[in-house]
Amino acid sequence: MSRGNISIGKISGISIGLDYSWFFIFILITWSLARSYYPSVFPEWSTITSVIAGIVTSLLFFASVLAHELMHSITAQRSGIPVKSITLFIFGGLAQISREPEKPGTEFKIAIAGPLTNFILGIIFWAIWYLLPSQFEVIAEITFWLGWINFSLALFNLLPGFPLDGGRVLRAIIWRLSGNPDRATKLVTYTGKAIAYLIILIGVILILMGQWFNGIWLAFIGWFLSSFASSNSRRISIQQVLQNHNVAGIMKSDCFKIPSDNSIDSMYNDYIKPYRKHCLIVTSGNRTLGLVNMRSIRTLSRNQWPVKTAIDVMTPLSELKRVSPEDNLATALRIFQEEKTEQLPVTGNNEIIGILNYSDLANFINKMDK
Ligand SMILES: [Zn+2]
Repeated sequence: MSRGNISIGKISGISIGLDYSWFFIFILITWSLARSYYPSVFPEWSTITSVIAGIVTSLLFFASVLAHELMHSITAQRSGIPVKSITLFIFGGLAQISREPEKPGTEFKIAIAGPLTNFILGIIFWAIWYLLPSQFEVIAEITFWLGWINFSLALFNLLPGFPLDGGRVLRAIIWRLSGNPDRATKLVTYTGKAIAYLIILIGVILILMGQWFNGIWLAFIGWFLSSFASSNSRRISIQQVLQNHNVAGIMKSDCFKIPSDNSIDSMYNDYIKPYRKHCLIVTSGNRTLGLVNMRSIRTLSRNQWPVKTAIDVMTPLSELKRVSPEDNLATALRIFQEEKTEQLPVTGNNEIIGILNYSDLANFINKMDK
């Protein structure tokens, strides 16, 4: 969702953005409320009343969608899982929760928080609608529609298949009962696809019945859900495997220590070429200064090799995030993505005992995928 994104602020450290596609759905919903729903249900309302009611209703509707995503996000944050951003787009909202929960209980709480928010909002809106005296008819009707849409959002999101919240809830329950998160992921991917195909089917039936717009719209939502169900489950199974393997398994520990004044030429001839070494630690006396960055060597022209030294092509230790051999690969992947680096030093007892290459991690993921 990062292509076209307008930032509208930050809540609880989470940046809130609007994808360009959101404006389309906002205008569509506002238009259908202002020009179709309100005029047909309340023909006695003036056009301006219907239009204002349409805009207010639409804005509060998207505020409800945002509240849903915010509650997922705040619950995640409270469980120690950082959340980067929330984006509203054509199919609703999307919270960028940085990693998968490690326990079924956490997943359950994060997933249920969204629909629960809509359920509570539904009760609040309907309470206002019920309690308002009759002279506030317009406000009452706005809150009636908002109550109804919030209950609908809660129920729709609770459908038990990926990528909907109900899929997450079901996955957490099966995971807790069976102790097997992979089996749980597979099952809710199937149910998610079944739900998606059913929605597409209903869309097609509506199209055949002449309800073009609603039909195409539903088919579109079904298609989105089905493609999201697959990518979601793939991402989660990768994450799960990465969480069960640690850095020690794929790190390179046969590193060479190179004095900082060593020229690139001699480094290449003595270490890189004969040993195909890509783990070169730059030292000065007993001190470790950094890691040789192969990328910086590649940017040098060959005639600079005799004059440039190891220190010119190293990344200083202070600039590198470290991992320990016991860290799991999911953590390592997250650090690679955050730091945008190709290598991470692996430290134990305050000493570099190896390095982790991004390429090795990528190979590991590729092999797993086959
Ligand atoms: Zn949700």
